[in-house]
Amino acid sequence: MRHLHVLLNKYKIAIYTLFIFSMIGIVAMLYRDIRYFFLFFGIGLLDSTSRILVVRYPKLLQFFRLTLLVLIGSSLFAGICLIIGVNFQFIEIFFDLSAWVVTGALIQLIVARLILPFFAGNAFCSRACWNGAFFEFTNPMKKKTNPKKRSPLLAWGYLLFLVVLGFTVAFLSPVNPAENQEVRMWWIIGENILIIFVGFFLSISWGSRAYCRTLCPFITISSLIAPYSLLKITPVAADQCTSCNACNKACPMYIDVLQAVKDRKRVNDSMCILCERCVSSCKLNVLKVATKMPKPHYDKETKLSSKRIAFSYLNLSNDEANAANKLL
Ligand code: SF4
Ligand code: SF4
Ligand code: SF4
Repeated sequence: MRHLHVLLNKYKIAIYTLFIFSMIGIVAMLYRDIRYFFLFFGIGLLDSTSRILVVRYPKLLQFFRLTLLVLIGSSLFAGICLIIGVNFQFIEIFFDLSAWVVTGALIQLIVARLILPFFAGNAFCSRACWNGAFFEFTNPMKKKTNPKKRSPLLAWGYLLFLVVLGFTVAFLSPVNPAENQEVRMWWIIGENILIIFVGFFLSISWGSRAYCRTLCPFITISSLIAPYSLLKITPVAADQCTSCNACNKACPMYIDVLQAVKDRKRVNDSMCILCERCVSSCKLNVLKVATKMPKPHYDKETKLSSKRIAFSYLNLSNDEANAANKLL
């Protein structure tokens, strides 16, 4: 029984992941059809398998995550966007709303940006987004020391611009892309090429994942929920930290991980994409993705020794000390 408990504890994030994706799949199946169940269950299965493998082979964490990112990202883009013709980009939501239809864009927004962030923050960005995969593999490896800081005004302004553009195209152009497969396909190709080009060139002057950090409307939305995420980067052995700064240097989103370690707090930054590069970069295993801060070990010991000292001052017998201990 104890063995089972240890095992469940060890793989609990993988189990949570599979459970949550299965639930989302069941709801999507009831709303649409069984293909949605297989889609979400398949993503959950791949993600939880990679998490199990990471528990067994922690040094290969980034290899498993990047493999997962490529697998899920390319399957979604090649299979669902290019073959089935579903546009997942933000602007499609407003084409759809104008035509009163629900497609993958709205489902993606609800699942990846409004439901999953309560469990895993912006993890979609480090495990499933094909644009994110492109940026991750092509961004200049040498990080800029003065990256462009995120401006909420720019991020929300860009999101608003896309909303207005979406409705304008839907109502004023001869064909609403939501109602014509061929036109939609041109939007899928055009938007993805544009995002990749803009993102690539922005990253050269503004630093790694510049499009993600400064413009992408999806993360602008999920960043509102990410601070409430169950899973966060957690300093599980803050005492071991030598302030070497390797975690900060490794973070593609320029988050101050070291400060969180010093403050003995979980990384609460709304832009964290749970890529775990900070975890992999820490040679002393200070960091981990976890659901809460570990209980300080010394607490129990300190409590016990202060009790022992107090009892010895009071000159209590063993029975009296036991009775007092129960009361305290
Ligand atoms: S921020 Fe946007 S482009 Fe970047 S990985 Fe996330 S969803 Fe993809
Ligand atoms: S990499 Fe580890 S040891 Fe170095 S500063 Fe970060 S948490 Fe501390
Ligand atoms: S804090 Fe860690 S997990 Fe979050 S984005 Fe930075 S490197 Fe990735």
